[in-house]
This record gives sequence, structure tokens and C-alpha cells, in this order.
Amino acid sequence: ADARKPLIAGNWKCNLNHFEAIALVQKIAFALPEKYFDKVDVTVLVPFTDIRSVQTIVDGDKLLLTYGAQDVSEHDSGAYTGEISGAFLEKLGCTFVTIGHSERRTLHAETDEVVLRKTKAALRHGLTPIVCIGEGLDVREAGEHVAYNVAQLKASLAGLTAEEVGKVVVAYEPVWAIGTGRVASAQDAQEVCGAVREALAEIADPATAAGVRVLYGGSVNAKNVAEIVGQSDVDGALVGGASLKADEFAQLSAIA
Ligand code: PEP
Repeated sequence: ADARKPLIAGNWKCNLNHFEAIALVQKIAFALPEKYFDKVDVTVLVPFTDIRSVQTIVDGDKLLLTYGAQDVSEHDSGAYTGEISGAFLEKLGCTFVTIGHSERRTLHAETDEVVLRKTKAALRHGLTPIVCIGEGLDVREAGEHVAYNVAQLKASLAGLTAEEVGKVVVAYEPVWAIGTGRVASAQDAQEVCGAVREALAEIADPATAAGVRVLYGGSVNAKNVAEIVGQSDVDGALVGGASLKADEFAQLSAIA
């Protein structure tokens, strides 16, 4: 696990205009001294309209915090009204982009095929895709969550080379735990994240799989993060609600 530096990624979702974004990034930077970045990577995934403002603060103040987007077009440019390309995100200094968050899979009908195309688009532009997977409550209650997540992962990464797989971050986010306050147990998180790593070894190879960061997401906060990230195959967290509170986000990043 030493090879895998923990990653704490704040998913702001559709919250905070560019003005509010500046204030939050400044507060996080103030609350999270540089020394913590030796042992944890911290990033914020912000609305597209916030990226330029966040870049200004991060670059101007030489912050170690990185930033990224919550979605990317599968296309690089052209007649795709309303789309944002990976080339634009790269130009704005983005490091990460979430792909296939359950809210996009559900509300925007993003299939595994779409997620795969967007993942390839991110990789084409040097962005690190955070590929999201996760089962709904019905699947969990049927006891089929491991097989479901492995299938979703394999379909979302189908045909990538081992080198490409090595550049991906995977986020396991059980849908029933997102925004509900109902966090998965550390054992539940480890069960699926461990299965994800085994699947990555099949998709690519064991050495590649050993280097890929697998995150857990779903109602993570400063109180529960330590136990979850303490699991052998959990390499950090994707954090929604708690990422909007500077003190809590800084605190959970410092713990991870
Ligand atoms: C998320 O949006 O990815 C998420 C995990 O949200 P929350 O932490 O609020 O459950």
C-alpha cells in the first residue's frame, strides 16, 4: 500500500459559484498546512465555471492542492453544443476528472460504454480519470454487489492497455451510501475495493493493479475516514457533502 499515496477528492457537485469557490479553496489551504501533502494528495472536483478561479488561487499561492472537473466530453472538439472537452480541462491545469459518477449514470443515462469513451478522452489529454462504480440498494440486498461492481469496472475499462489502466483511479461508491449519511462499513468497503484490485489484475496485470488507487465514496466524514482508509485496498476517499466544509475537509484529509 506504500506505493499508493492516499488521495482525498472533494466532489463539490453542483454547488458554489466561482466567487464562493475562491473562498472555499482559500479556507481549505489555510486549514491544511503544506506538511500534510507529504502523505496525502488532496484535490477538489469543481463545477466547470469554477475551474479558472480555482486555478488562479492554486497557481498564485503555489498551493499543493490540485483540482479537476466532474465530467468530460468524449469528444475533443467539434459540433457538440454544451460539451466541455478534455483539451480545455488540460489547458486549465486540471489533474483529475470524475467519470461515471452515479448521479451522471442515473440522471444523464451514462452507460459503461459512455464511461469508457470519456475515460479514453481524459487519458488522451493527460487527465487522471476517477472512474466511479457502485451498486444500488437492490443489488446489495440481493448479495450481488461484488459481481456487479466487477462487471461494471470491466465494462468501464474494456480494451484499455495495462499502461492506461495504470493511470486510472477507481472510486467505489455504493449508491445507497451517497448523500444519505449511511456509510458502508470499513469491511464492506474493503470487500469491494479488494475485488476491484483483483479485477484490475485480470484486466491489466498484478503489478499494474498494485499501483492503482482505489477510493471509497459515500457519506465519508472526519469521524469515519480513518477506519475506511485504514483498509488495505482502500487508498483514499471521494467526498461529497463533507468537502463543502473547509474545516472538516481539511481535517479528514489530514487524517487519511
Ligand atoms: C459523492 O458525491 O461522490 C459522495 C460520496 O457524496 P457524499 O460524501 O455526500 O455521500
